[in-house]
Amino acid sequence: MKTAIIAGTGVDELIDFGDITTVTTRFGEAEVVEARLRDTTFLFVPRHGTGHSVAPGAINYRAQIAAIKKMCVHQIIGVCAVGSLNSGLSTGSLAILKDFIDLTKRRADTFFDDPNGPVVHTDFTQPYCPEISQALHDACRDEDISFEANAVYIGVEGPRYETPAEIRLYASWGGDVIGMTNVPEVILAREAGLCYGALAIVSNMASGISPTPLAHDDVRAAVLSSSTTLAAVLDRAIKSIPETRGCACGTNTGLKL
Ligand SMILES: [Zn+2]
Repeated sequence: MKTAIIAGTGVDELIDFGDITTVTTRFGEAEVVEARLRDTTFLFVPRHGTGHSVAPGAINYRAQIAAIKKMCVHQIIGVCAVGSLNSGLSTGSLAILKDFIDLTKRRADTFFDDPNGPVVHTDFTQPYCPEISQALHDACRDEDISFEANAVYIGVEGPRYETPAEIRLYASWGGDVIGMTNVPEVILAREAGLCYGALAIVSNMASGISPTPLAHDDVRAAVLSSSTTLAAVLDRAIKSIPETRGCACGTNTGLKL
């Protein structure tokens, strides 16, 4: 298998699960699944665990990324449910992430914090892999759906949703979508020298934009209502990711896992 999908809310219900393996890394354990979507096979990492029991702030992101690297899979598609800050992105829309702003507070967000290890400052000029992003772009285009190709993601700690004043601020910064899981996943993938692109599915309008209070059940329902489109896009994207990497994501190849 060349590709991994990391996903959570709703997406696990689109996928046929095969064998589940617990991978042990020096950052902890992660569950990985041999999975199938239509006629495509890939490594599936259920972000919140197979029982959907782990909250965004408590996910062991380092163990999940390290487990993928340990399985010798170098290309990852992250799928995340997001709130929209952009009135042009309504519930059910898809967005390909281009950049992010990190507002998380209490997460292990680097592999390079060992006092006896190397000091590494990883470049984030292009945070998401251009090849994976292009594959997602082509897949959305070929499915003839409307999507935002260059979304800016605001990564927040949670577990609470945002206040209206926060949403006004983040929108003024140029944020398009907001969520609790893409950061530090995207950071750790790059630190590990893996290719990582992200597909966001808008599950709700953010608070202050939405006329009603937000609830997690609405997030799951929105993802499931777009499930046919999502499955088609992921299937196409996995098939069109190049076999050989031509990007610069693999710079940090010396990471010891
Ligand atoms: Zn890449």
